[in-house]
Order: sequence, then structure tokens, then C-alpha cells
Amino acid sequence: MSNQKENLQFQTETRELLNLMIHSIYSNKEIFLRELISNASDALDKLRFEAITHDHYMEKDEALEIRLEVNKENRELIIRDNGIGMSRAEVVENIGTIAKSGTREALKKMKESQSAGDFSQLIGQFGVGFYSSFMVADKVTVITRGAGENQGTRWESDGSGGYTIEDAEVDKRGTTVILQLKTVDEENELHDYSDYFEIRRVIKKYSDFITYPIVLKEEKEEQERDKDGKIVEGGKTQIVVEENTINSMKPIWLRSQSDVTDDEYNEFYKHISHDWNDPAKRIFYRAEGRIEYLSLLFIPSKAPFDFYYQNYESGLHLYVKKVLIDEAFDDLLPKYLRFVKGVVESSDLPLNISREMLQQDRHITAIRKGLTRKVLDSLKEMLDKDKEKYVKFYEEFGSALKEGAASDFEYRTNLTSLLLYESSDSAEKTTLKDYFSRMKPEQEAIYYTIGESRDVVENSPLLERYKEKGIEILYIYDPVDEYVFQTLMEYEGKKIKSVAKGDLDIGSKEEKEKIEKDLKEKETDFKAFMDALKEPLKEEIKEIRLTSRLVSAPACIVGEEFDMSPQLEKVLQRTGTGIKTKRILEINPESPVIRKMRDNFASHGAGESLKDHARILMGYAYLSEGLELPNPTAFAASVARLMETAF
Ligand code: ADP
Repeated sequence: MSNQKENLQFQTETRELLNLMIHSIYSNKEIFLRELISNASDALDKLRFEAITHDHYMEKDEALEIRLEVNKENRELIIRDNGIGMSRAEVVENIGTIAKSGTREALKKMKESQSAGDFSQLIGQFGVGFYSSFMVADKVTVITRGAGENQGTRWESDGSGGYTIEDAEVDKRGTTVILQLKTVDEENELHDYSDYFEIRRVIKKYSDFITYPIVLKEEKEEQERDKDGKIVEGGKTQIVVEENTINSMKPIWLRSQSDVTDDEYNEFYKHISHDWNDPAKRIFYRAEGRIEYLSLLFIPSKAPFDFYYQNYESGLHLYVKKVLIDEAFDDLLPKYLRFVKGVVESSDLPLNISREMLQQDRHITAIRKGLTRKVLDSLKEMLDKDKEKYVKFYEEFGSALKEGAASDFEYRTNLTSLLLYESSDSAEKTTLKDYFSRMKPEQEAIYYTIGESRDVVENSPLLERYKEKGIEILYIYDPVDEYVFQTLMEYEGKKIKSVAKGDLDIGSKEEKEKIEKDLKEKETDFKAFMDALKEPLKEEIKEIRLTSRLVSAPACIVGEEFDMSPQLEKVLQRTGTGIKTKRILEINPESPVIRKMRDNFASHGAGESLKDHARILMGYAYLSEGLELPNPTAFAASVARLMETAF
């Protein structure tokens, strides 16, 4: 069966993607060459690595290279490599399918994005590099033979609906991609990629750092010359073939930084990360001493769409003695720094051992420590020197840093200094350090409040007293921030407290004592009323108590000091680990509404209407803090009954 020619259909997603790509107005079509060269280079890396344990994969001293040829008559551009190659099954798997999970999502996003710029950023993120050939070619043929295999495979497609696949005679291991180029259309930025000059330009621009030679076979017409080197008039012309290596090949991380341009670094970043955006920051680090290594790291400017997924592929390219050992070695950095891309090269690591053994190597532990510190220091530097840029970075990857602050005890101080929050003072993001420096002299704790958005938080009755005293409150919108606060517990000796939990503890000692005494007195007065109020709410509410927390609002919902906020609880419930905590309804004895309710109760007792009033009061408290109502149907019924009696 498998030796016959098969006509296969692309997966629906692949078809849609191709369709988008072929008809895209995306102007930067030349990047197809970068993608194909990048694939060839990866295939050579894989071969070199596999050959360590399978010496028959490669001939001794065989030159590994990428070759480009042009067939002018047929308008063909041919890209060859003698890398790892593919078996027939691998061809179907790798280029008949888009393997990445989330392709569907990618497509949805792509369809939504109108601008060409967005489109270009997206295609890169989904590992669809090979398909970009269809932006410049009407037909693409892949002829390949896997290392250690006898049989070759030929794959061909015009990119419309499907492809053909068949066995083929291929005399050497490796892959050849033949592009049947489209007609030149300068207006739509479709240049002539069969032109040597153009090919050189594109390779220089995007692929100069590739460590294998990229050899361009050039055919030139030469006129016949006489002994003195003069062109013979009416003489013959002959075709001369030249082969030129057009990239400089030196590993970019080994070159002196002053010799490499930003563009070159950026292209290298794109090659290793499969990101199509320039990185936000570059970190170069050479460690000398007990263990020597070199690293060139990048902080991306945009989080890939799958960054927060379980199976996000993280890790750095690890080179040992110039051989790429792993292109996603994720023991070189802690998991929370998984957004960092780059290369680490060391000659102090053993070459021929398993990945599992390497993971336990003490050198790796030392490198991990060094790199972690370096990355955290660089981020701190970005924050100090270019806050605007840092804020952008934080919007993309802040959640990862929060993970770190909550889990990595060793670098907790560094990580905490990198966290940002909005506050009641300003919507501009602030650090804990800056907040600390603005604290009121008598302020005992760092206060925060959590809610869905600035609007919601800002109008919460819980802030009334703090506002009155001019105390700044940190605003958080992400339950993970609260989780971090709960693990940190304090900063520079000051407790970090939620305004929605525990007792109100602002003001001087005398003030607090006076308030407490006041409340005690009122409690006797309110006892019977509060009991009656609690009766209809006892399923939802743990306790009703009087509060001095509020100024004008009648009631609020709070938790005990060590309770989780409802927001955090909800997140944990989604993961199946949460419990549901009953909250406390606090009422303000100074509020006219509460007074009226109590007076009414004193003269009429607990009638039916008190039940509705109690529920509406509780509902008000939940809603005013932007919280979800515990029982919205009962609340709605109470509101309806109240409206009936209102007219
Ligand atoms: P990506 O390179 O992002 O994985 P591509 O669509 O460019 O996505 O390639 C898909 C897969 O096809 C590659 O991951 C690789 O396994 C295989 N492939 C592509 N080109 C080659 C090649 N020249 N040699 C061997 N395998 C290749």
C-alpha cells in the first residue's frame, strides 16, 4: 500500500491556513527562504546529534551543508540539505498535518485579525514555516530520504486541497525542496527569487548566522576571450558554474558583540524561537571560573499563544563542544522563566551521555543558578532604566514572574522586586518598593484589594475609611497576585493585608480603642435585629456583625484574616482544589438604611418583609464589591416583591 502513489487531503485546518497564506496580502514574502533554510539547518543539527550514537548515519568527514540551485528555464528554486531527512510516515506527519495543538485557535485569531502585520506574527507562532513556500510557489515538491533508510519519498502539492505522496529513488540521505516559483509581481512584493542577487540578499538578511555553509550554485554566461583576455567578437559563449558559500557561518554567540548588528541578533532570535517579532531584550553572558559557559539569551516581546498552556515547549538550545545537544533543554532555567529563549554553549559538559544523566549533572545546576540570577538582574535593570518597556514585558509575562515569587524561595526577594501593581493613587503600575516609600508614617501594613477591574475596585465601600485617611491601596485584578501576597505575607517587615479581611486596623491606638468600645455598646442594641437578619441568610452567611469599616455604605462582605478571597477561591475551584468559605456580612450602625431597618424591626418584629430586606442588603454588599451573588434567583425574587409593594 505505502509504496503506491497516494492522493491525500490536508487536514481541514491546514487547508484553511494554506488558503489564507496563499491569498494573503502579507508583503514580506521573502521570509519563505528563511523558513526553509531554518528547517534545513535544524535537520543538519539533528543529524549531527543522532550520528553521535548512530555512526552509520553519516560518512566520516562528510561535509554538512545547505545547497541552493536555480533552474532559470523552469523558474525553479531548489533547496537541498544532507540532514536527517524524513521517512514516508514522517513526511505525512510533519508536512501533511500541522502538529501543533491549538491550530484551530490560531486560525480563529488569524481570521479575526485584519491587518497584515498581525497575520505575519501569527503564522510564525504556529510552526507553519514550511507552508510559507506557497506564498511564492505554485507548486512545492519535497524529495527526501531519512537517515538510516533505504527508501526515499516524494511529496508534492499545489497548496490547494491536498498532496500526493509516493516512494522515490533518492540516492542520498537528506531533503530537497523544489519550488515552482510564481510569476514575479513586484507590486505585491513578489520579487524574483530565481535571481542570484535577490537570493544572496535574502540569505544575508535572515540566515547569515546559520552554522552550516549555504552554498549557492551560480551559472554564468562567459564570452569567449582571446589570449590577452579580450572578448572575442562573435565568439562563443559558455556557461561557467560557480559555487559560493554566501553566509558567514560563525556561531553568533561566539562573535564579538561589537561585530554583530541588532538585526543579525534579531534574525538569530527568530530562527531559534520561531517567533516573528523582534525580541524585547538581549542578554549576553559569559561565565568564567569553575565552570565556563557562554550564553546568548532573549526576552521575547510577545507571549506565544500557547505560553500559558501545559504543553508549552520551553527550554534553551544547549550546545556542548559546538554540537547542538538539545534545542529545548529546560533544566537550564526554572520553569517560571520559561519565556526566555536562547543558546547556552559549554565545553565543560560531557557530550555523549543521556539527557536524563545530563539533567543531574552538577554543572547544569551551576549554570542554572548563574543564568537565573543573570535574567532576574537584567529584568531589574530594564525596570529601573526603561519602565515603559518593562511594563510591556510585564503585561506579557508578569504571570510567570508571579509564579516564581510564590514558589522560588531562593530568589523570592529578586522576584518580589519585579512585581507591579496599580494602586488607589494611580493607574500607573507601581512596585512594592515604591509603594513602601510612600506609606504614611503611622501606617502599619501594606493594603490591597482585589476586584475585576479598576472601576469595580475603586467604588468598593471597603475603601471608604482608607480613602478618608489618605492611605494608598494596591489594586489587584488577578487572583494569582493574591496568592503571591498570601505566600509572601509581608514585605520589609510590614504585613500585606487585604482590606476585605480581618479587622480594620488603621488609625492610632486610641482611635481604635474608642471605635471598639463604641461598637461593643451598640452591639447590645443591635443584637436581636442582627439575629433576625441572619435567619433568612444563614445558608450563605457565616456571621453578621457591626463594623466601623464603612462611612456611608450600609453593608459590606468580608472574610476572616486568613480566608481566601472569593476571586481566588473561584480560580482554585476550577482546578478542583477549592473549598467554599462562608463570608461575613458587616453592617454599618451609622447608616440611615440600617437604622431604619432596625427601628422597623423594633416596632414591628420580624415580618415577611425583613427576609426580603435582609437578602437585598446582602445582595447589595456583594454587588458593590463586584462579587458574584451567592443566590441570584432568591435575590431577584426579593427585589420583585419589594417593587410590588413600592407603588
Ligand atoms: P517547524 O519548523 O516550525 O516545526 P515547519 O512547517 O517548517 O514547522 O516544518 C514542519 C516539520 O517538518 C519540521 O518540524 C520537521 O520535522 C520537518 N521538516 C521540515 N523541513 C525539513 C527538512 N529540510 N529536513 C527534515 N525535516 C524537515
